Amino acid sequence: MFSLMQMQAMLAALPDPVFILTRSGKYAYIFGGTDQRYYHNGACLIGRFFSEVLVAEKADWFMQQIAQVLQSGKMMIVEYQLAGADVLGLEDGPDDAIWFEGRVQPLGFQIDGEDAVLWVASNISARHMLQQRLQHLSEVDELSHLYNRRKLRSQLNRQLSLFHRHHTRCSLLVFDLDFFKQLNDACGHPTGDSVIETVGRICLQTVREEDLAARYGGDEFAVLMPHTDTQQAWCLADRLRRKIQQVLLQMDLPQICTSISGGISEFLPLDDKVEALVQRADRGLYMAKNLGRNRICCEHPD
Ligand code: GH3
Ligand code: MG
Repeated sequence: MFSLMQMQAMLAALPDPVFILTRSGKYAYIFGGTDQRYYHNGACLIGRFFSEVLVAEKADWFMQQIAQVLQSGKMMIVEYQLAGADVLGLEDGPDDAIWFEGRVQPLGFQIDGEDAVLWVASNISARHMLQQRLQHLSEVDELSHLYNRRKLRSQLNRQLSLFHRHHTRCSLLVFDLDFFKQLNDACGHPTGDSVIETVGRICLQTVREEDLAARYGGDEFAVLMPHTDTQQAWCLADRLRRKIQQVLLQMDLPQICTSISGGISEFLPLDDKVEALVQRADRGLYMAKNLGRNRICCEHPD
């Protein structure tokens, strides 16, 4: 069998740091995680309490996780972000905040007279960044930099359930560029692309933080407006229409595609699918096209 020295050497060689943490929030022991490209040296934490070295919010969070694991008696996996600067007294190690995956296992015996857990903290920053990047790619349209149809759809579904559960109002604007095809035909696709990109930028600058602007496809866009009724939505949509027209008129292009037409609607009690809202907004859009374009219409004026 291994000698005590060999056991200690093996614990010290563990690639990820392993913390023995007590119910009262004490760092009882720390093993491994000595590569300072990935981890800070936590030796100074031994014998200290979360409340002494962590900001209150983080200390509370760690205490809660430990209590939960001890109560369930089962291993739990958590993800969290922690910077060297968040922990008092840490030395060396990475400059940027680290994303950790914590695997927290209850121990079957007491440490210093207290229940305790074994907490393996793995640096998953690279994986986290990749996940963020993939999520961005799957949700954002690369030409307009607005959200894509998939993201819009998932937010519409979320808002529909909030509407039915809490009567939270929510409006949708659907708009389409006027005479965009003619611009493409006259000036070429790259010019059309630059107009789509410009419209995306204006949307991002103009919509409120809580709104979600998306490219619906082709020259069609949408803005989801939570906590907004049709009347307010019309005002916001018309402001966006005027802003887009102002910028398109200033572009150094033949004055072919200089405006948008849009339709708006809000969730109604009988809507059981998001399509009902989208179809009403679409009918508003067609109404706007038929009435001569460059306007925002609503099928159900309040
Ligand atoms: P209307 O005023 O009735 O909307 O007419 P329109 O000329 O804008 O015609 P419509 O909306 O039906 O056509 C949209 C055109 O958008 C057709 C398609 O060739 C073009 N389009 C779709 N996606 C892209 C794109 O990514 N880039 C460019 N440049 N053009 C696109
Ligand atoms: Mg169009």
